[in-house]
Amino acid sequence: MSANQMTNEKKQEEILNFDKPTYKFSPNEHHDWRQEGPFLVCKSCDITHSISIGMDKILVGFDKKGKPIIKKRQIV
Ligand SMILES: [Zn+2]
Repeated sequence: MSANQMTNEKKQEEILNFDKPTYKFSPNEHHDWRQEGPFLVCKSCDITHSISIGMDKILVGFDKKGKPIIKKRQIV
């Protein structure tokens, strides 16, 4: 039996100024995804962006279209 660790995360609110965008983000077709913990972080775009996949997922490769293939981590 294991107790779930519940952590209270305070939401950090940021105020962003969208009136004068300093960049124009146009996503590329291909992304150089690297797994960093529970996130896939793109290293190829001008803007670093990431998607959350969860702690129990693992990046195993890419399909023909360059989309990341994610599998559920096998916990032994
Ligand atoms: Zn990207």
